[in-house]
Amino acid sequence: ETYLDNNATSPCFEEVISCVAETARVFYANPSSLHGAGQRSRAEVSRCRSELRDLVKASNYGIIFTSGATESNNLALRSVVTQRMSETGASEASVVTTPMEHPSVYETLAALQGVTVVMLSVDASGRIDIEELHEALKDERVAVVAVSMANSEIGTIQDVHAITAACRGAYVHCHLDMTQVFGRYQVSLNGIRADSVTLSAHKFHGPKGVGALFYTLARPPPTPCTTGGKQEQGLRGGTENVPGIAGMSLALQMCMGHVRSGATERLQKMLQEIKDGLADTLPGVTFRDSSTSTLYQTLSVVLPVRSALLVEELSNMDVYLGVGGCACSKGQYSRTLEAMGASKEEMARTIRISLGFLNDDRDVTRFLRCTRMALARLKK
Ligand code: PLP
Repeated sequence: ETYLDNNATSPCFEEVISCVAETARVFYANPSSLHGAGQRSRAEVSRCRSELRDLVKASNYGIIFTSGATESNNLALRSVVTQRMSETGASEASVVTTPMEHPSVYETLAALQGVTVVMLSVDASGRIDIEELHEALKDERVAVVAVSMANSEIGTIQDVHAITAACRGAYVHCHLDMTQVFGRYQVSLNGIRADSVTLSAHKFHGPKGVGALFYTLARPPPTPCTTGGKQEQGLRGGTENVPGIAGMSLALQMCMGHVRSGATERLQKMLQEIKDGLADTLPGVTFRDSSTSTLYQTLSVVLPVRSALLVEELSNMDVYLGVGGCACSKGQYSRTLEAMGASKEEMARTIRISLGFLNDDRDVTRFLRCTRMALARLKK
Protein backbone atom coordinates (compact mmCIF):
# COMPACT_ATOMS: atom_id res chain seq x y z
CA GLU A 1 0.00 0.00 0.00
CA THR A 2 1.25 3.50 -0.86
CA TYR A 3 -0.50 6.21 1.13
CA LEU A 4 0.09 9.74 -0.20
CA ASP A 5 -2.91 11.53 1.32
CA ASN A 6 -1.45 12.70 4.63
CA ASN A 7 -3.21 16.09 4.55
CA ALA A 8 -6.56 14.29 4.73
CA THR A 9 -5.29 12.22 7.63
CA SER A 10 -2.11 10.40 8.50
CA PRO A 11 -1.51 6.86 9.74
CA CYS A 12 -0.73 6.61 13.46
CA PHE A 13 2.86 5.95 14.49
CA GLU A 14 3.10 2.40 15.91
CA GLU A 15 4.41 3.88 19.18
CA VAL A 16 1.30 6.07 19.36
CA ILE A 17 -1.00 3.07 18.87
CA SER A 18 0.79 1.32 21.77
CA CYS A 19 0.64 4.46 23.91
CA VAL A 20 -3.13 4.87 23.31
CA ALA A 21 -3.75 1.22 24.24
CA GLU A 22 -1.51 1.38 27.31
CA THR A 23 -3.05 4.65 28.51
CA ALA A 24 -6.56 3.21 28.09
CA ARG A 25 -5.46 0.27 30.25
CA VAL A 26 -3.56 2.14 32.96
CA PHE A 27 -5.43 5.46 33.15
CA TYR A 28 -8.93 4.06 32.81
CA ALA A 29 -10.43 6.10 35.66
CA ASN A 30 -12.36 9.33 35.20
CA PRO A 31 -10.01 12.32 35.72
CA SER A 32 -12.84 14.04 37.62
CA SER A 33 -13.11 11.23 40.20
CA LEU A 34 -11.72 12.06 43.62
CA HIS A 35 -10.21 8.64 44.31
CA GLY A 36 -6.60 7.71 43.67
CA ALA A 37 -7.21 6.13 40.25
CA GLY A 38 -9.07 9.28 39.13
CA GLN A 39 -6.27 11.47 40.41
CA ARG A 40 -3.74 9.45 38.42
CA SER A 41 -5.78 9.97 35.22
CA ARG A 42 -6.02 13.67 36.06
CA ALA A 43 -2.25 13.85 36.54
CA GLU A 44 -1.74 12.14 33.17
CA VAL A 45 -3.89 14.77 31.41
CA SER A 46 -1.92 17.52 33.19
CA ARG A 47 1.37 15.94 32.16
CA CYS A 48 0.25 15.90 28.51
CA ARG A 49 -0.95 19.51 28.72
CA SER A 50 2.48 20.63 29.99
CA GLU A 51 4.27 18.53 27.38
CA LEU A 52 2.14 19.96 24.56
CA ARG A 53 2.65 23.50 25.83
CA ASP A 54 6.44 22.98 25.89
CA LEU A 55 6.50 21.35 22.45
CA VAL A 56 4.90 24.37 20.74
CA LYS A 57 6.36 27.02 23.09
CA ALA A 58 3.01 28.16 24.38
CA SER A 59 3.66 29.30 27.95
CA ASN A 60 1.38 32.31 27.29
CA TYR A 61 -1.55 30.04 26.37
CA GLY A 62 -4.23 27.94 27.98
CA ILE A 63 -5.08 24.63 26.30
CA ILE A 64 -8.55 23.13 25.92
CA PHE A 65 -8.51 19.53 24.73
CA THR A 66 -11.20 19.00 22.09
CA SER A 67 -12.31 16.35 19.61
CA GLY A 68 -10.22 17.91 16.83
CA ALA A 69 -9.86 20.94 14.60
CA THR A 70 -13.54 21.18 13.68
CA GLU A 71 -14.55 21.55 17.31
CA SER A 72 -11.64 23.90 18.08
CA ASN A 73 -12.58 26.20 15.18
CA ASN A 74 -16.24 26.13 16.27
CA LEU A 75 -15.35 26.89 19.88
CA ALA A 76 -13.02 29.78 19.04
CA LEU A 77 -15.31 31.45 16.50
CA ARG A 78 -18.61 30.99 18.33
CA SER A 79 -17.03 32.18 21.56
CA VAL A 80 -15.40 35.31 20.22
CA VAL A 81 -18.51 36.40 18.29
CA THR A 82 -20.76 35.82 21.32
CA GLN A 83 -18.35 37.67 23.61
CA ARG A 84 -18.13 40.63 21.23
CA MET A 85 -21.90 40.90 20.89
CA SER A 86 -22.43 40.79 24.63
CA GLU A 87 -19.63 43.37 25.21
CA THR A 88 -20.98 45.88 22.71
CA GLY A 89 -24.66 45.04 23.05
CA ALA A 90 -24.78 44.92 19.23
CA SER A 91 -26.62 42.15 17.43
CA GLU A 92 -24.15 42.23 14.53
CA ALA A 93 -20.44 41.62 14.09
CA SER A 94 -18.06 41.16 11.17
CA VAL A 95 -15.54 38.38 10.69
CA VAL A 96 -12.64 38.74 8.27
CA THR A 97 -11.56 35.47 6.68
CA THR A 98 -10.27 33.93 3.45
CA PRO A 99 -11.61 31.56 0.80
CA MET A 100 -8.82 29.14 1.78
CA GLU A 101 -10.51 28.00 5.00
CA HIS A 102 -11.74 24.57 6.01
CA PRO A 103 -15.56 24.10 6.09
CA SER A 104 -15.40 24.12 9.92
CA VAL A 105 -14.59 27.83 9.61
CA TYR A 106 -16.78 29.00 6.77
CA GLU A 107 -19.81 26.83 7.60
CA THR A 108 -19.60 27.98 11.23
CA LEU A 109 -19.49 31.63 10.17
CA ALA A 110 -22.41 31.06 7.81
CA ALA A 111 -24.40 29.51 10.67
CA LEU A 112 -23.77 32.35 13.14
CA GLN A 113 -26.66 34.82 13.39
CA GLY A 114 -25.80 38.47 12.83
CA VAL A 115 -22.35 37.75 11.40
CA THR A 116 -21.21 39.46 8.22
CA VAL A 117 -18.33 37.64 6.57
CA VAL A 118 -15.67 39.81 4.95
CA MET A 119 -13.79 37.63 2.48
CA LEU A 120 -10.22 38.65 1.65
CA SER A 121 -9.05 38.02 -1.89
CA VAL A 122 -6.15 35.70 -2.63
CA ASP A 123 -3.58 35.74 -5.43
CA ALA A 124 -2.88 32.89 -7.87
CA SER A 125 -0.81 31.11 -5.18
CA GLY A 126 -3.55 31.51 -2.56
CA ARG A 127 -1.85 34.24 -0.52
CA ILE A 128 -3.78 37.09 1.06
CA ASP A 129 -2.71 40.71 0.68
CA ILE A 130 -1.74 42.20 4.06
CA GLU A 131 -2.68 45.70 2.87
CA GLU A 132 -6.20 44.47 2.14
CA LEU A 133 -6.32 43.02 5.67
CA HIS A 134 -5.25 46.37 7.14
CA GLU A 135 -8.06 48.04 5.14
CA ALA A 136 -10.64 45.50 6.35
CA LEU A 137 -9.54 46.04 9.95
CA LYS A 138 -10.46 49.73 9.75
CA ASP A 139 -14.10 48.71 10.18
CA GLU A 140 -14.71 48.67 13.93
CA ARG A 141 -17.43 46.03 13.65
CA VAL A 142 -14.74 43.41 13.01
CA ALA A 143 -14.69 40.98 15.94
CA VAL A 144 -12.22 38.40 14.67
CA VAL A 145 -9.87 37.55 11.83
CA ALA A 146 -9.87 33.81 11.05
CA VAL A 147 -7.11 32.48 8.80
CA SER A 148 -5.52 29.08 8.28
CA MET A 149 -1.76 29.32 8.44
CA ALA A 150 -1.37 26.55 5.85
CA ASN A 151 -4.01 25.44 3.37
CA SER A 152 -4.66 21.71 3.18
CA GLU A 153 -5.33 21.45 -0.56
CA ILE A 154 -2.39 23.28 -2.08
CA GLY A 155 -0.20 23.95 0.95
CA THR A 156 -0.10 27.77 0.75
CA ILE A 157 1.44 29.24 3.90
CA GLN A 158 0.29 32.71 4.96
CA ASP A 159 2.52 35.32 6.59
CA VAL A 160 1.10 34.79 10.07
CA HIS A 161 3.45 37.23 11.79
CA ALA A 162 2.14 40.03 9.57
CA ILE A 163 -1.45 38.87 10.16
CA THR A 164 -1.17 38.76 13.97
CA ALA A 165 0.63 42.14 13.98
CA ALA A 166 -2.17 43.70 11.91
CA CYS A 167 -4.79 42.30 14.30
CA ARG A 168 -2.90 43.53 17.37
CA GLY A 169 -2.66 47.00 15.85
CA ALA A 170 -6.46 47.03 15.45
CA TYR A 171 -7.22 45.31 18.81
CA VAL A 172 -8.99 42.51 16.94
CA HIS A 173 -8.95 38.83 17.97
CA CYS A 174 -6.78 36.74 15.64
CA HIS A 175 -7.73 33.07 15.24
CA LEU A 176 -5.27 30.84 13.38
CA ASP A 177 -6.14 27.37 12.16
CA MET A 178 -2.71 25.71 12.28
CA THR A 179 -4.00 22.17 11.71
CA GLN A 180 -1.71 21.59 8.71
CA VAL A 181 1.33 23.12 10.40
CA PHE A 182 1.72 21.31 13.74
CA GLY A 183 4.05 18.34 13.59
CA ARG A 184 5.63 19.53 10.35
CA TYR A 185 7.52 22.58 11.60
CA GLN A 186 9.04 23.74 14.86
CA VAL A 187 6.43 26.15 16.15
CA SER A 188 6.53 28.91 18.76
CA LEU A 189 3.01 30.09 19.61
CA ASN A 190 4.53 32.68 21.97
CA GLY A 191 6.38 34.04 18.93
CA ILE A 192 3.40 34.03 16.54
CA ARG A 193 1.13 35.70 19.12
CA ALA A 194 -2.32 34.72 17.80
CA ASP A 195 -5.23 34.92 20.26
CA SER A 196 -6.46 31.40 19.56
CA VAL A 197 -4.98 28.50 17.62
CA THR A 198 -6.40 25.19 16.38
CA LEU A 199 -4.60 21.81 16.40
CA SER A 200 -5.70 18.30 15.41
CA ALA A 201 -3.74 15.12 16.25
CA HIS A 202 -4.65 12.96 13.26
CA LYS A 203 -2.76 15.23 10.86
CA PHE A 204 0.56 14.42 12.55
CA HIS A 205 0.37 10.64 12.98
CA GLY A 206 -1.69 10.92 16.16
CA PRO A 207 -5.12 9.43 16.92
CA LYS A 208 -8.33 10.68 15.32
CA GLY A 209 -11.00 12.54 17.28
CA VAL A 210 -8.65 14.51 19.51
CA GLY A 211 -7.21 18.01 19.22
CA ALA A 212 -6.78 21.25 21.09
CA LEU A 213 -7.61 24.92 21.16
CA PHE A 214 -4.86 27.19 22.45
CA TYR A 215 -6.14 30.49 23.84
CA THR A 216 -4.12 33.47 24.94
CA LEU A 217 -3.98 34.07 28.68
CA ALA A 218 -3.97 37.81 27.97
CA ARG A 219 -7.70 37.82 27.16
CA PRO A 220 -10.74 36.31 28.88
CA PRO A 221 -10.98 32.54 28.20
CA PRO A 222 -13.38 31.25 25.53
CA THR A 223 -17.07 30.90 26.32
CA PRO A 224 -18.03 27.20 26.08
CA CYS A 225 -20.24 26.41 23.11
CA THR A 226 -21.67 23.25 24.65
CA THR A 227 -23.22 22.86 28.08
CA GLY A 228 -22.12 20.13 30.41
CA GLY A 229 -19.64 19.34 33.15
CA LYS A 230 -16.79 21.39 34.54
CA GLN A 231 -13.94 19.61 32.75
CA GLU A 232 -11.15 21.55 31.01
CA GLN A 233 -11.23 24.47 33.46
CA GLY A 234 -14.99 24.63 32.94
CA LEU A 235 -14.46 25.49 29.26
CA ARG A 236 -15.39 22.16 27.67
CA GLY A 237 -17.62 19.69 29.43
CA GLY A 238 -17.25 15.94 28.87
CA THR A 239 -14.95 13.25 30.21
CA GLU A 240 -11.48 13.79 28.78
CA ASN A 241 -10.22 11.45 26.05
CA VAL A 242 -7.21 10.45 28.15
CA PRO A 243 -5.78 7.83 25.72
CA GLY A 244 -6.23 10.21 22.78
CA ILE A 245 -4.61 13.10 24.62
CA ALA A 246 -1.60 10.95 25.57
CA GLY A 247 -1.32 9.65 21.98
CA MET A 248 -1.51 13.17 20.60
CA SER A 249 1.25 14.41 22.85
CA LEU A 250 3.54 11.50 21.97
CA ALA A 251 2.82 11.90 18.23
CA LEU A 252 3.81 15.56 18.30
CA GLN A 253 6.94 14.78 20.26
CA MET A 254 7.90 12.11 17.71
CA CYS A 255 7.22 14.46 14.78
CA MET A 256 9.52 17.07 16.30
CA GLY A 257 12.19 14.36 16.53
CA HIS A 258 11.69 13.64 12.80
CA VAL A 259 11.94 17.35 11.96
CA ARG A 260 15.13 17.72 14.04
CA SER A 261 16.73 14.74 12.31
CA GLY A 262 16.24 16.08 8.78
CA ALA A 263 12.90 14.55 7.72
CA THR A 264 11.86 17.88 6.18
CA GLU A 265 14.64 17.70 3.61
CA ARG A 266 13.96 13.99 3.03
CA LEU A 267 10.29 14.62 2.20
CA GLN A 268 11.15 17.67 0.11
CA LYS A 269 13.53 15.53 -1.96
CA MET A 270 10.90 12.80 -2.37
CA LEU A 271 8.33 15.35 -3.54
CA GLN A 272 10.82 16.73 -6.07
CA GLU A 273 11.40 13.18 -7.41
CA ILE A 274 7.64 12.75 -7.77
CA LYS A 275 7.45 16.06 -9.62
CA ASP A 276 10.32 15.14 -11.97
CA GLY A 277 8.88 11.68 -12.54
CA LEU A 278 5.42 13.03 -13.37
CA ALA A 279 6.87 15.66 -15.71
CA ASP A 280 8.72 12.87 -17.58
CA THR A 281 5.68 10.59 -17.75
CA LEU A 282 2.90 13.04 -18.44
CA PRO A 283 3.36 15.65 -21.16
CA GLY A 284 1.19 18.66 -20.31
CA VAL A 285 1.23 18.14 -16.53
CA THR A 286 1.67 21.33 -14.46
CA PHE A 287 2.32 21.98 -10.77
CA ARG A 288 0.89 24.68 -8.58
CA ASP A 289 3.32 26.95 -6.77
CA SER A 290 5.57 24.89 -4.50
CA SER A 291 7.90 27.67 -3.39
CA THR A 292 9.32 28.01 0.11
CA SER A 293 6.06 29.45 1.45
CA THR A 294 4.19 26.24 0.65
CA LEU A 295 4.04 23.12 2.84
CA TYR A 296 7.16 21.14 1.93
CA GLN A 297 5.28 17.82 1.77
CA THR A 298 2.28 18.96 -0.34
CA LEU A 299 2.11 19.01 -4.12
CA SER A 300 -0.91 20.15 -6.12
CA VAL A 301 -0.80 18.75 -9.64
CA VAL A 302 -2.89 19.69 -12.67
CA LEU A 303 -3.10 16.64 -14.92
CA PRO A 304 -3.82 16.55 -18.65
CA VAL A 305 -6.58 13.99 -17.84
CA ARG A 306 -9.50 13.91 -15.39
CA SER A 307 -8.08 13.28 -11.94
CA ALA A 308 -10.91 11.01 -10.78
CA LEU A 309 -10.01 8.49 -13.50
CA LEU A 310 -6.35 8.32 -12.51
CA VAL A 311 -7.09 8.31 -8.78
CA GLU A 312 -9.50 5.41 -9.23
CA GLU A 313 -7.01 3.41 -11.29
CA LEU A 314 -4.32 4.07 -8.67
CA SER A 315 -6.67 3.18 -5.85
CA ASN A 316 -7.25 -0.21 -7.53
CA MET A 317 -3.48 -0.71 -7.13
CA ASP A 318 -3.58 0.43 -3.44
CA VAL A 319 -2.01 3.81 -4.18
CA TYR A 320 -3.94 6.56 -2.44
CA LEU A 321 -3.99 10.30 -3.07
CA GLY A 322 -6.45 13.21 -3.01
CA VAL A 323 -8.51 14.72 -5.83
CA GLY A 324 -9.63 18.36 -6.39
CA GLY A 325 -11.30 19.63 -3.23
CA CYS A 326 -10.09 16.50 -1.34
CA ALA A 327 -11.63 14.68 1.61
CA CYS A 328 -13.35 17.52 3.49
CA SER A 329 -15.57 18.68 0.65
CA LYS A 330 -16.10 15.10 -0.60
CA GLY A 331 -15.81 16.07 -4.23
CA GLN A 332 -13.87 17.81 -6.91
CA TYR A 333 -15.24 21.32 -6.41
CA SER A 334 -12.89 23.47 -4.37
CA ARG A 335 -13.59 26.97 -3.03
CA THR A 336 -9.86 27.36 -2.57
CA LEU A 337 -9.01 26.59 -6.18
CA GLU A 338 -11.91 28.71 -7.42
CA ALA A 339 -10.69 31.70 -5.39
CA MET A 340 -7.24 31.25 -6.92
CA GLY A 341 -8.79 31.54 -10.38
CA ALA A 342 -9.00 27.84 -11.36
CA SER A 343 -11.87 26.78 -13.63
CA LYS A 344 -14.16 23.85 -12.75
CA GLU A 345 -12.51 21.93 -15.55
CA GLU A 346 -9.06 22.55 -14.05
CA MET A 347 -10.35 21.47 -10.61
CA ALA A 348 -11.48 18.21 -12.16
CA ARG A 349 -7.90 17.65 -13.37
CA THR A 350 -6.30 18.38 -9.98
CA ILE A 351 -4.72 15.85 -7.66
CA ARG A 352 -3.02 16.40 -4.32
CA ILE A 353 -0.04 14.41 -3.15
CA SER A 354 0.75 14.90 0.53
CA LEU A 355 3.58 13.03 2.23
CA GLY A 356 4.05 12.06 5.86
CA PHE A 357 6.92 10.84 7.99
CA LEU A 358 5.97 7.21 7.33
CA ASN A 359 6.56 7.55 3.58
CA ASP A 360 9.88 6.51 2.09
CA ASP A 361 11.65 6.21 -1.29
CA ARG A 362 9.82 2.96 -2.06
CA ASP A 363 6.54 4.90 -2.08
CA VAL A 364 7.94 7.31 -4.67
CA THR A 365 9.11 4.49 -6.92
CA ARG A 366 5.83 2.60 -6.55
CA PHE A 367 3.69 5.70 -7.12
CA LEU A 368 5.53 6.57 -10.35
CA ARG A 369 5.46 2.97 -11.60
CA CYS A 370 1.75 2.58 -10.87
CA THR A 371 0.98 5.97 -12.43
CA ARG A 372 2.68 4.86 -15.66
CA MET A 373 0.66 1.63 -15.63
CA ALA A 374 -2.59 3.48 -14.87
CA LEU A 375 -2.02 5.97 -17.68
CA ALA A 376 -1.25 3.19 -20.16
CA ARG A 377 -4.51 1.52 -19.14
CA LEU A 378 -6.46 4.77 -19.43
CA LYS A 379 -5.06 5.39 -22.93
CA LYS A 380 -6.53 2.06 -24.04
N1 PLP B 1 -8.75 22.75 9.49
C1 PLP B 1 -7.91 22.38 8.50
C2 PLP B 1 -6.99 23.38 7.89
C3 PLP B 1 -7.91 21.05 8.06
O1 PLP B 1 -7.09 20.68 7.08
C4 PLP B 1 -8.81 20.13 8.65
C5 PLP B 1 -8.89 18.72 8.18
O2 PLP B 1 -8.90 18.45 7.02
C6 PLP B 1 -9.65 20.57 9.68
C7 PLP B 1 -9.59 21.89 10.07
C8 PLP B 1 -10.62 19.63 10.37
O3 PLP B 1 -9.93 18.75 11.19
P1 PLP B 1 -10.66 17.60 12.07
O4 PLP B 1 -10.83 16.46 11.16
O5 PLP B 1 -9.69 17.32 13.18
O6 PLP B 1 -11.92 18.16 12.58
